[in-house]
Amino acid sequence: MPLALYCHLPFCRRICPYCDFFKKVPKPGQLDSFIGILAREVEQSAERERDWARGPADTVYFGGGTPSLHSPEQIAQTLDALHAHWEFAEGAEITLEANPGTLTLESLRALRVCGINRLSLGLQSFSSRKLKILYRDHTADESREAVNLAREAGFSNLSLDLIFGLQGETREEWGGDLREALSLNPEHISLYNLEYHERTPFGKWYEGGLIEETDQDLDADLYLLAHEVLTSAGYEHYEVSNYAKQGFHSRHNSAYWNGTPYLGFGPGAHSFDGKDRRFANIADIHRYQQRVEFEQSVVDKEWLYDPQTRWEDWLSVRLRRKSGIDFQECETTWGIARTVQLRNAAQSLPPRLRNLSDTHFSLTVEGWFVENEILGKLYSLTVQS
Ligand code: SF4
Repeated sequence: MPLALYCHLPFCRRICPYCDFFKKVPKPGQLDSFIGILAREVEQSAERERDWARGPADTVYFGGGTPSLHSPEQIAQTLDALHAHWEFAEGAEITLEANPGTLTLESLRALRVCGINRLSLGLQSFSSRKLKILYRDHTADESREAVNLAREAGFSNLSLDLIFGLQGETREEWGGDLREALSLNPEHISLYNLEYHERTPFGKWYEGGLIEETDQDLDADLYLLAHEVLTSAGYEHYEVSNYAKQGFHSRHNSAYWNGTPYLGFGPGAHSFDGKDRRFANIADIHRYQQRVEFEQSVVDKEWLYDPQTRWEDWLSVRLRRKSGIDFQECETTWGIARTVQLRNAAQSLPPRLRNLSDTHFSLTVEGWFVENEILGKLYSLTVQS
């Protein structure tokens, strides 16, 4: 059974007010000491989760935070720790998230040498207005420069992240972001529709009426505009928020959507055993470090899914994919009765929101935009007594 490995490197130069990930500004020396702790957690978790997390590792993902704040030597040290416990599949996809302004030609070359073969660049926008609102610490020129340097260093698999749906955003501004991204010819593009998470400054400003959410119709319009522009340029819209050139789907994220087991390291990282157990590491650097030092488990929350929750989870991740649900696979996994229920439930959706054939069920682009409402309906129509 293949395995996906995830390392959460939680440090950022400064904190973006919309960000809901676990992250911190590092103290002096902390980037280095953290990597030592992380390597110890890898060793301890490898032992603890040995029953199911055997591998080989098909993908490794360094997410954050801003993993590119770490030196290539620190990334190499982490990869060595993983290699010591897992065999890597041939051609394993190894991704590092990076921000413009944290990369040099030298560091990029060193990252290639240590095994990173895919970069995910958090550009977010080329509009200086949007970058300012998002409080990003880089400019559009630095974004272009980061892509050019990555190409020069030999990276042939680049993903760019873009955000849409900010207050005051227009079709023209978003269209400009999309065109700028296309001009850099990335292999993969991920889009993020801005949300106002409760615990973030944006969430508080929104609650206090200081900023306004974009109108739902405009959000939908921007989402559809991206679909039109990117698919016309030859990108496949293969998942709700992700586009790729042929052969460049994110293998790591696909593992999440396909139900592949994954094991996460670092504070706040999540894991899934591929069946019914999910767990999350403690989201607190100090306590995480203490537990590793005392060889205690860093797992803070654990969920054992009952059959209905497992079903809902299975349904929701598969409907994120363009390929959707294969009824034959559904029948093998969940039985005939549940498959018939699902087929009938899918039939009851408005045709503009779903693609339905004898063998497959998936959501249309319009359906993806209202995915949560659709899932609520499907869950209620497919409860097993
Ligand atoms: S750089 Fe990324 S992880 Fe860090 S605060 Fe900003 S959005 Fe969050």
